[in-house]
Amino acid sequence: MTETILLDMDGVVLEGPGTPQSVYDRAADAAAEELGLEPTDRQRRELRSHGYETVKSACSELGADPREFWRRKETGASRLAAERIRSGERGTYGDVAALESLAERATLALVSNNRHETARFVAEFLPVPFAAARGRRPTPEGFHRRKPDPHLLRDTLAELGIEAGLYVGDRETDVLAAEKVGLEAVYLRRSHNADVPLPEGAAYEIEGLDELDEVLEASEGR
Ligand SMILES: [Mg+2]
Repeated sequence: MTETILLDMDGVVLEGPGTPQSVYDRAADAAAEELGLEPTDRQRRELRSHGYETVKSACSELGADPREFWRRKETGASRLAAERIRSGERGTYGDVAALESLAERATLALVSNNRHETARFVAEFLPVPFAAARGRRPTPEGFHRRKPDPHLLRDTLAELGIEAGLYVGDRETDVLAAEKVGLEAVYLRRSHNADVPLPEGAAYEIEGLDELDEVLEASEGR
């Protein structure tokens, strides 16, 4: 019997497939200023990029500790992301409301490749009683171990003391990660993935979070 639903965050509850690059740009510029760095235009582009290797290479040229820069950039991005969500600049999908009633019969949790701080913020911000919220750590290792690495899902299941359930996501990496930990993958269609072929291994395909009630019933009947 399935009574646990883990959900991806970006593109599932938060509108749009992910954090826009402009957030990382601003976070990188702020981190550079905090550390007193004076990057060239090229180095600034590298510091802004959403990948650790380029950030590390620019930091080494600038004599800065790349881990410290990365931590500050991630912290800044989390702060900016929270501001954007709080102000409504980044919205949540209307069908998130369906999770409120679903929470009466199922344990819900957020498991995201986004930063842990942002996942925690969203769990607090939404009127949905999430039992757990987990995202990547603000370290290079955390960045490298995003889904399809299954550890975020595995750690959440351990935290909840649960071994089976559903994982709802909008990307193939969500399906791959779910399979690795024995969760049934639910592929959610949004406008940004409307034409993407259904990933192999998806147990269910839905058009909205309000269909999760039916999925839960089908899954319990298996
Ligand atoms: Mg997503």
